[in-house]
Amino acid sequence: VHVPRAALLEWISAQHENMIFLLETLVNIDSGSFDKIGVDAVGSQLSRFLRDHDIETKALAVERFGDTLLAGTGAVRRDSGRHNILLMGHRDTVFDKGETSRRPFRVNAGHAFGPGVADMKAGLVMNAFVLAAFQRFAPDVPIAFMMTGDEEIGSQASLTHIREEALFARAVFNAEPARPTGNFVSGRKGGFIYRFETHGKPAHAGVNFNEGVSAIGELAHKITALHALADVESGITLNVGIVRGGSTTNTVAAHAIGEVDVRFVDTVQRNRLVKDIEAILAAPVIPLSTTTFARESESLPFVPTPENTRLSALYRETANELGVEVSGEFTGGCADSGITSSVGTPTVCGVGPVGGKAHTEDEYILIETLAERAAIVAASIAKLPTP
Ligand SMILES: [Zn+2]
Repeated sequence: VHVPRAALLEWISAQHENMIFLLETLVNIDSGSFDKIGVDAVGSQLSRFLRDHDIETKALAVERFGDTLLAGTGAVRRDSGRHNILLMGHRDTVFDKGETSRRPFRVNAGHAFGPGVADMKAGLVMNAFVLAAFQRFAPDVPIAFMMTGDEEIGSQASLTHIREEALFARAVFNAEPARPTGNFVSGRKGGFIYRFETHGKPAHAGVNFNEGVSAIGELAHKITALHALADVESGITLNVGIVRGGSTTNTVAAHAIGEVDVRFVDTVQRNRLVKDIEAILAAPVIPLSTTTFARESESLPFVPTPENTRLSALYRETANELGVEVSGEFTGGCADSGITSSVGTPTVCGVGPVGGKAHTEDEYILIETLAERAAIVAASIAKLPTP
């Protein structure tokens, strides 16, 4: 397959204004994870852009959250073997409905602001333009582009779609934002949460104190024991971030709930944590108290396997050739790169435009990196050996 690298890069570098225009359109649509209509509306805008560049998009229906959308060059193959390049991005944000009218897209001094601008509407724009460039100049390169709708809440609905598509791919580029340093992401923690509820026995705190079993007392023991499992040096953190319980100060609490966020670096740690956490939650410290619990929102760690490290090296080399000094960085945040990597597909993450302060009102991207990072991804694809 002949890839006219110069033509691709020249076209991409001329798209700066068009990229900002598409980004403004996407940012100004509210698309919180639970807002299916909004997340699908972002998808419609992307499909429209792609259709204008002769690329069809198909939807894999998701009932409660945004559909998974799949686009690609005509050369995409879904038979046996790993042929495709897979570009990934999620359309949902962490922001509630109304946020975009309160805080619409704006550009100031080389920075663009707005809900989800970095995480990760800029990455979606970048992927759309990379795909359009290949469709125009090198349609024989099989490139698929998957746009999911539930990443910020753990990708449970899109999990099978991502896995299936990753199995047909020889490389995955996940367009989460590059770090504020400009670096891309070569490793991420995995994580999950446990929701747990302690049950005790209510009693008047003055009259029948001895008849009570305090669910709050038991919850406090659980919190201390869970936090003691943290091992920051090895990358293990546990944070009980939510607690609720009790009814009045003069009643021994019958119920209390807690939620703990757990992060780890590899699967060995994960399996040990599951065992230790469940042992703590199952065993009462205060006699006659009981605890129920469930594990949710599991994200797989993005581990620097030899395949991932090779792809990271190719990406870094390509960036350097284009005059951009970057290297791989590790981050505690979870992403879909853990899923694609877990099925053995070489994956590089954080290849989107440079941005920071995700999930806050100060979220930003550096607009000059829209075309810059698109060029690095395109040139990296051009450099990948064809099977
Ligand atoms: Zn993200």
